[in-house]
Parts: sequence; C-alpha cells; structure tokens
Amino acid sequence: AKADGRDSLRFFNADMQDQVHQRAELASAIYRALENDEFTLWYQPQYDAQGKILGMESLVRWEHPVKGVIMPGVFIPASEANGLILRLGNRILFKACTQLAAWSTHPLLGGLTVAVNVSASQLHNDAFVDDVCRILDETGANANLLELELTETLLVRNVEEAIVKMGRLRERGVRFSLDDFGTGYSSMNYLKRLPLEKLKIDRSFVRDLLTDPNDAAIVRTIVALGESLGLAVIAEGVETAAQRDMLATSGCCLYQGYLFSHPVPAAELEAGMTHTP
Ligand code: C2E
Ligand code: CA
Ligand code: CA
Ligand code: CA
Repeated sequence: AKADGRDSLRFFNADMQDQVHQRAELASAIYRALENDEFTLWYQPQYDAQGKILGMESLVRWEHPVKGVIMPGVFIPASEANGLILRLGNRILFKACTQLAAWSTHPLLGGLTVAVNVSASQLHNDAFVDDVCRILDETGANANLLELELTETLLVRNVEEAIVKMGRLRERGVRFSLDDFGTGYSSMNYLKRLPLEKLKIDRSFVRDLLTDPNDAAIVRTIVALGESLGLAVIAEGVETAAQRDMLATSGCCLYQGYLFSHPVPAAELEAGMTHTP
C-alpha cells in the first residue's frame, strides 16, 4: 500500500509537470497561430419559423497547417487561462466585422446580423468598449448588425460594470444576446436591467426536449420570460425536425442547429444560400 502511495505520488507529479509543459506548448502555439493568422471564423445561420435566415453566429476555428481544423474547445479555455484571449478576441471581432462589412452589398447576406462570442476576460478588460468601437470604425461594419453573445456566468461577475459597458456599446448600435441561457445564475433583478435583445436557450434543454418533460417546461418558461421582458428567444442545437416542432409548440420560433446547417466557412455560406430544410 505504501509503495502504491509513493507510485501514485510520483505519477501525480509527473502528470502535473506534463500538464504545465503542455499548457506552455499550447500557449506558444496559439501565439504563433495569431502571428500566422491561422484563426478563421465559420458561420452558422439562424432561422425564423418560416425558414427565413435572420443572421448567423460566428464560431472560431484554428486552421492549423499540419493538424487541420482545431475546435474552440481546445484553445478558447486555454487562451482565457494564459491571457491570449484579449488578442484573440480582438482578432475575432476584427474578422467578424470585416466580413459583416463585406457582406453589406451581398444580395442575400446583406442586412443580416453577425453574432460574435465574447468571453469574460474580454468584457472585463478596461479597453473592451473602445476596442469594439475602434474595430467598427476601422472595418466600416454596421454596428446595428453586430450582436455580441455573452454568458450568464460572465455577467454575474460584475453586473454593474457590465451594465455600463453594454449601455455604451448599445448607444453605438451594438446588440447583446445571453448565450447558454438557463445554465447560469440569472436573477430576474438584473435580467431586466441588462440591455439585452435576445435569449439563447442552451443546447442541453433542446437535446432531451422530446423525452424529458422538465425540459419542455423549461423551454416554455424561458419563452414566457422572453415575452414579458421583450426579448427574442432562440433555441440552439436544434438537430431534428421533431425538436423544432416541439420548440414551435412551446412558443419558440427562432432556431439554430445542425438540422438547418452546421457552421461553415463564409464562402460556403455564400454558395449555399438557397438551402432550407
Ligand atoms: P457556443 O457559443 O454555445 O456555440 C455553440 C456550439 O454548438 C458550437 O460549437 C456549434 O458548432 C455547436 N452546435 C451548433 N449547432 C449544433 C447542433 O445542432 N448540435 C450540436 N451538438 N452542436 C451544435 P463550437 O463551434 O465547437 O464552439 C464551442 C464553444 O466555444 C462555443 O459555444 C463558445 O463558447 C466557444 N467559442 C466559439 N467561437 C468562439 C469565439 O469566437 N470567441 C469565444 N470567446 N468563444 C468562442
Ligand atoms: Ca454562442
Ligand atoms: Ca450557446
Ligand atoms: Ca453552449
């Protein structure tokens, strides 16, 4: 037993060292990827009940020259931990706004909103509001078509600060949606004080919608909440027609998910504009 204990201690330490090493490797790889401009945005369209496209969410991808496409789950949390998220976040915003400006004259994509995910360290950074405004100026993007997705957990950390910053950006035309809604700790009290436009029902509630009566009840509650607060409500992670129908029955008429389209590169979105399920 003693030997076991020593062994596991040794392995634990080796593992810790390994993790520290891996984290440092990943940080320098992300740093290089920023230098080499390997981060691109893919876009996933959002639809209304009539199947009309209303806008799209941008989702970052790391297009690694050797490893191929790397998903954000691998490098976003790491970038948050090592501080690179500020540079990466501004790069993402710049790319989304550049695309928004380029699409302004497109016959089908012009006038559609582009949503950008914003992480906690970005919002809480002192330069955030100025950064967004500067990027809007530099790219010539229409601020009224830029939507920033924030999460509940991000907002509760400093509600007063968030309200002030969101208010300043709202004056500039920028809209806000609350991502992964239902998984965090929103209180009614601050929900009504935040300058929000939209609630995004978290994918976890959509997934088991047909089998779990609690999830159907939660969806109906979020829809009612949205109605009483004057907010649009969109469901994310809609994968089947049955889920969409159940959402419609529950009063939710905005959808995003694999049923309609996976996230795709901009060029593919431009090419596939005629698709409706
Ligand atoms: P999220 O903001 O909740 O984004 C939705 C995720 O669900 C995306 O994963 C999307 O590809 C995926 N998804 C969309 N439709 C479906 C569906 O029907 N079924 C299922 N199972 N999944 C679906 P992705 O692209 O891997 O992004 C994961 C997370 O990484 C995002 O979750 C977001 O938190 C973060 N992220 C992505 N892009 C950015 C970014 O540009 N900036 C920041 N700060 N975070 C980002
Ligand atoms: Ca999102
Ligand atoms: Ca989400
Ligand atoms: Ca989510």
